[in-house]
Amino acid sequence: MHQGNWKCGGCGEAITELPFEPRGEAGLMCKACFSKSRGGSSAGGGEKTKHEGDWKCSGCSKAITELPFQPRDTSNLLCLDCFKQSRA
Ligand SMILES: [Zn+2]
Ligand SMILES: [Zn+2]
Repeated sequence: MHQGNWKCGGCGEAITELPFEPRGEAGLMCKACFSKSRGGSSAGGGEKTKHEGDWKCSGCSKAITELPFQPRDTSNLLCLDCFKQSRA
């Protein structure tokens, strides 16, 4: 178990213990929300899936290991920071 001070992305409740070391706080869920997201029907959609891989940011050349989508074209990928900047 990993101890820490995170916040649930579903209900906002504090999370103090996780079975894994999270990379970021985004998308973290408490046990209740996690089991809810697992147990509920997936018909509604809106579910966040993460795709892991070994890509490179075309903006800053930083390694990208996780994306919220499956990239079709890997030559023009942006890391979260560069993506935010391009949108700003
Ligand atoms: Zn929660
Ligand atoms: Zn970048």
